[in-house]
Amino acid sequence: MKVLITGGSGFIGSHLAEGLLEEGHEVTVLDNLSTGRLENIRHLESNPKFHIVVGDVLNEFLVDKLVERTDWVFHLAAGVGVQLIVKDPLRSLMTNIRGSEIVLENVYRYHKKVLITSTSEIYGKNTSDALKEDDDRILGSPLKTRWSYSTSKAVDEILAFVYWKEKKVPTVIVRLFNTVGPRQTGHYGMVIPRFVEQALKGQDITVYGTGEQSRCFLYVKDAVWGMTRLMENPEAVGNVFNLGNRHEITMNQLAEKIINLTESSSKIVHIPYDQAYEEGFEDMQRRVPDITKAGKLVGFKPRMDLDDILRMVISEFRRQPASHGISAIDC
Ligand code: UDP
Repeated sequence: MKVLITGGSGFIGSHLAEGLLEEGHEVTVLDNLSTGRLENIRHLESNPKFHIVVGDVLNEFLVDKLVERTDWVFHLAAGVGVQLIVKDPLRSLMTNIRGSEIVLENVYRYHKKVLITSTSEIYGKNTSDALKEDDDRILGSPLKTRWSYSTSKAVDEILAFVYWKEKKVPTVIVRLFNTVGPRQTGHYGMVIPRFVEQALKGQDITVYGTGEQSRCFLYVKDAVWGMTRLMENPEAVGNVFNLGNRHEITMNQLAEKIINLTESSSKIVHIPYDQAYEEGFEDMQRRVPDITKAGKLVGFKPRMDLDDILRMVISEFRRQPASHGISAIDC
């Protein structure tokens, strides 16, 4: 297949590009390099089936040309990371809503197939033991910036679903739960690269809130495997799937685990949310996926456990400390 990956030089996009090339596909990456990095895809450049176009998903002319020449589109270009959304809400919203609209318009125009990446943020403050795809969304006020991300992704999902329902455009939606692994940076607030970097530098580990909030972390290559199998499967069309890991851990436990694995002298400090993000910030206290649906359809099952993921991330930071750092976007 000829595959277009929007946002393909980002953390997840670069792993997806690698996976698709390994399976023999021809891959074109479209990325404006705002959060994506050329280092993520440098090792793919010598592959004759790999192409990179530096450009914006909001450039309608460019997206038109690229979609016309492709079979499948994986749409990943988005403003991601809670810290980025809070600091740069307008641009994130534009990219997420208008960007998806442009991609879908062109997929429709040229009769192509698209996978839209959505997020577990969709569920908002729903703390159920196992969030199912058709569960309710519980959101705070739209004036709290955090919820704008959830809402923008919900608009993307609705658009994709309606294009399928009304126009029979083959769309597949995946909701990625916290996805982690090598190449993820701490620049946009993601917790694992931040804690690992802090631990390796002997700095305080900044746990936000009480640290009793929990998350489940999925290895990026497990996510890529699930996305690819769902894209291939005709029965996935018109449907939405959670992709995540069911192993739950609190941020306090995560910080301790990282201190142990790095043998660091760092101490854990708790920082109030208001200080870490913005006044009135609301966090999700818990976010655990039900992954039965993707499991039944394509055999999706996370294979990498958290300790092994952390060991990989730690050894990557030890090898290339300079390319990850925590940036000016930080509090
Ligand atoms: N977090 C933290 N310290 C940090 C960065 C994040 O305690 O330096 C917390 C954050 O408040 C959230 C969890 O870690 O409760 C996961 O954050 P991340 O941004 O990785 O993903 P989210 O689940 O919020 O999208």
